[in-house]
Amino acid sequence: MTLRTYTRLVALVGRPNVGKSSLFNRIIRERKSLVHDEPGVTRDRIFGRAEHNGEAFYLCDTGGFEPTSKDNIKIQLVEQAEMAIEEAETVIFVVDGREGLHPVDSDLIRRLRKSEKNFVVCVNKCDLPKDDIFIEEFRKLGVPNVYPVSAEHNRGVSDLLDAATEIFASAPKAKQEDPENPPVKLAIIGRPNVGKSSILNRLVGEARSIVDNRPGTTRDSVDVSLKYHGREIKVIDTAGIRRKSRMVDKLEKFSAFRSVSCLEDCDVAVLVINAEDGATDGDARVAGYAFELRKPILIVVNKWDLVKDKTSKTVKDFTEKLHLDLRYIRYAPIVFVSALENLRVSRLIPMCLDLFDQGSKRNSTSQVNNTLKEILLKHTPPMVKNKSKRIKFLYATQVGALPPRFVIFCSHPKDLHFSYKRFVENEFREAFNYKDIPISIIFRERT
Ligand code: GDP
Ligand code: GDP
Repeated sequence: MTLRTYTRLVALVGRPNVGKSSLFNRIIRERKSLVHDEPGVTRDRIFGRAEHNGEAFYLCDTGGFEPTSKDNIKIQLVEQAEMAIEEAETVIFVVDGREGLHPVDSDLIRRLRKSEKNFVVCVNKCDLPKDDIFIEEFRKLGVPNVYPVSAEHNRGVSDLLDAATEIFASAPKAKQEDPENPPVKLAIIGRPNVGKSSILNRLVGEARSIVDNRPGTTRDSVDVSLKYHGREIKVIDTAGIRRKSRMVDKLEKFSAFRSVSCLEDCDVAVLVINAEDGATDGDARVAGYAFELRKPILIVVNKWDLVKDKTSKTVKDFTEKLHLDLRYIRYAPIVFVSALENLRVSRLIPMCLDLFDQGSKRNSTSQVNNTLKEILLKHTPPMVKNKSKRIKFLYATQVGALPPRFVIFCSHPKDLHFSYKRFVENEFREAFNYKDIPISIIFRERT
């Protein structure tokens, strides 16, 4: 049985220089989640995936202040804390254990208490037990979870994470799904105001839909179920789409987080882009994550009605630009729609189902091996480094679907050049008709 898991967010909040990024690095480096063992394309300082006591979560460093006046820092800090309260499951509030209680800290801790959000206070820079002098001062604020920590010397970090992630274990799990006929989970993602809700409303208007309100899950997610030619489709986390946050515009990283967490949960992602703006840096980052997770993704260019003086070249030019800006997901099909005029929105669901079906396909080991043989004939494998022999390919097999994953056993996989790997990947995609979706091939050593 599959349980829907929600990606959890733990946010680090605190004044500049208290050690948030040191703590971030400490946690990410040592508690790296082993889910994605391939080298990532998104070297992101903002989000990192970590695991503690078997619970996976995203850690988000809300830092990155604009260096302006002191007052301004305070305003930014309050905004970040509020955003973290809204979006995260747990807030780790970081303070400087050498300075003691700062007026801004007391103010923020008061806000956190009022919000009833699960939060822990990390009194950082307590490198040695003798540095724990200010702990009591923080406890006096009525906060039970105060931990002396040294990010630099790795002191107290485990206890801090025990407390921060405790809530995950007690949170009720999502409803179980019918294992025989699991719904296809779609996520509609994209920046604020690109038209996600308008598209969702069109989809809901067209199909018979049931709102599946599911309180008790860690985030207040609401899934909407649609039926399309007898198939069940679930649009996940529509609460995230509908909830209009005042600050998302300002703190784009949180809207990116929502996209990333939806990406993890979905089978197919629908990335909505505003035709007037084209793809932004935030979209490119989301595209990078989609690629890392090998998620099928449909690019929807919305507000196509606003593009004036369209000629026969407009779509081609727009597509070329998108391929450039979102190069990681060149595999993704693109559709130009207008939610306002209901132009081509009805294509979305069938296109997503097609992507899902492509990704679900499994090929027998003999098919995979025959294909591998043909590929090797087409393009002889490269030489082993510093040796006068070629890399030997033994056999290949498909190890999973959604995304399709293959393992190819060969000698000296380390000597395989990226371009040859890319060639094999493209051949596999073509041979097995994975034309619009990413696949993953792991070259494993076997002699
Ligand atoms: P941020 O602005 O909150 O992200 O803070 P940084 O992580 O950049 O750290 C600010 C300064 O505090 C740096 O000079 C760090 O080396 C130092 N620092 C961070 N953590 C510790 C710690 O546990 N102990 C000590 N002694 N210094 C630390
Ligand atoms: P969201 O924040 O991504 O959910 O975006 P909304 O669906 O709330 O749309 C933001 C604004 O764009 C609203 O004022 C919509 O009426 C408008 N909008 C949405 N889709 C279209 C479209 O296809 N064409 C035009 N011209 N406006 C649109």
